[in-house]
Amino acid sequence: MQKTIRNIGLITLLILILPISAFFIYQFASLNESETELNKIYLQQLETVIYSINQYSEDVISTWINDIDIILASEKTHSKEALKKFIENNYSIKSAFITDINFIDSDFFSNSASDEEKTLHDSIKQILMGKTWLIERLQNFLEKGYQKIEPIGRLSNDSLHMCLFPLRTKVENKIIGGILFDPYDFIQQNLVSKISQSVGDEFVLSISEDLNSRIIFSSENLTDTEMIVKKPLWLLPGLSLGINMKSGTIQELVSQRFYENLLILSLLLIILIVGILLIYYNLRKELKLAQLKSDFIANVSHELRTPLSLISMYSETLVLERLKSEEKKHEYYSVIHSETSRLSKIVNSILNFSKMENNSREFVFQNCDLIEISNEVFKTYDYHIESKGYTYSLNYAKSINMIVADKDAISESIINLIENALKYSTDKKEFIISINQNKKGPYWEIEDFGIGISAEDQNKIFDKFYRVSSGLLHTTKGTGLGLSLVKQIMEAHGGSITVESKPGLGSKFRLQFNQNTLK
Ligand code: ADP
Repeated sequence: MQKTIRNIGLITLLILILPISAFFIYQFASLNESETELNKIYLQQLETVIYSINQYSEDVISTWINDIDIILASEKTHSKEALKKFIENNYSIKSAFITDINFIDSDFFSNSASDEEKTLHDSIKQILMGKTWLIERLQNFLEKGYQKIEPIGRLSNDSLHMCLFPLRTKVENKIIGGILFDPYDFIQQNLVSKISQSVGDEFVLSISEDLNSRIIFSSENLTDTEMIVKKPLWLLPGLSLGINMKSGTIQELVSQRFYENLLILSLLLIILIVGILLIYYNLRKELKLAQLKSDFIANVSHELRTPLSLISMYSETLVLERLKSEEKKHEYYSVIHSETSRLSKIVNSILNFSKMENNSREFVFQNCDLIEISNEVFKTYDYHIESKGYTYSLNYAKSINMIVADKDAISESIINLIENALKYSTDKKEFIISINQNKKGPYWEIEDFGIGISAEDQNKIFDKFYRVSSGLLHTTKGTGLGLSLVKQIMEAHGGSITVESKPGLGSKFRLQFNQNTLK
């Protein structure tokens, strides 16, 4: 039996726990992988946002250049006026110019005072003189159909940024155009709305100066070092765009998700293991019950066969009139009588048990006196107890409350406990009956000095069919139903049966009633 249960345990372990654990380990390993993937995807997403802002700034400047080209193409005669107006309308553009390759023949349009214009003019000339190669390259691009915008960066003595571009429409020999704009105004006028559109609720975007990491714009209050992805602004050299997640860093998000997933997986595993353990324990219980049932059938058959063969043997002798002496005849009659009552006791206890199992046993509850019930039992049982050589003492309280009970059922319980005290006794053939009451209510108690019950078995003796498998099991008769029947009866009365016992020293069983009485 133990071996079968162990085998079932091993099979459950092999079939269920091992694959589940393997699955768990696999999931755990792949969690790390997928979190790395997630990290990558997040970074790509951040880079895409930055890319879109860069693309947008390029679109803005391209549109300006396009407008300049259109003005030059359509209004050659009034182009200067039109370009001036165009600059006035874009507050981030401070100046624009169109020039020949050497900056000798150039037109300069500006909103600023003419002395400022002069210094600007000079510094632009200086830059362009050293960049004839660049201008030629821009021209080459244009010939191939690509109007490239070349960011020159900050002018040395000014905060203005400059962009060069080849002109599609040539005015006299002027082939190159330039725009000077204030980066802060450019950001405010063109990028702020785009940035707030792109960041939504998820990101924080900032623009900072590369030289000193000073943040010149941020959609939220963050320092430059907190930006996880930083990329240069294509058309504003020296400035960079930085981006971060609003709800913590990617690592924090990734590890939070990792631990969430881990928790879910662990919970699932725990539920699975608990489920498997429940199945295993239920199976084990069922197997034990099956074993107990088969022991029960063997016990009952044995219990029935002995009195039946005695009755048959004794009655046959009597029928055949083989006995001459009246005394002998009387002895045979009394054996038949006691064996018949033993038979009916066994059959009754089985019938009662099956009634209790089907919930079909009906109790007749009435107010009763526990002392009276006990006395009645002993009146009928005295002879039986004494004839087996047992003595007992009664230890009753002077008066106890009435109990609400089915008299027959309580007598049956008391008889069961007395029978057990006799069956499981040792040389000390005595027991003590006490009747008293405590906070819960009246109780009936029997204390014997027999073989006792181990702590482990004390939890099981009230289970149906259970018999302690050591000691007197083979020499004492029994079905393993008595105590479970008493337990069921006591529960039906709203009371309980408890045991205190020490192996070798004896046992004390108590039937505890509650305080109820019928009005
Ligand atoms: P049965 O006596 O028919 O085996 P019970 O349900 O009455 O069945 O008892 C269950 C088991 O509890 C018994 O087999 C016995 O091992 C143990 N037991 C019951 N009463 C006592 C007792 N007074 N002393 C020692 N063991 C007891």
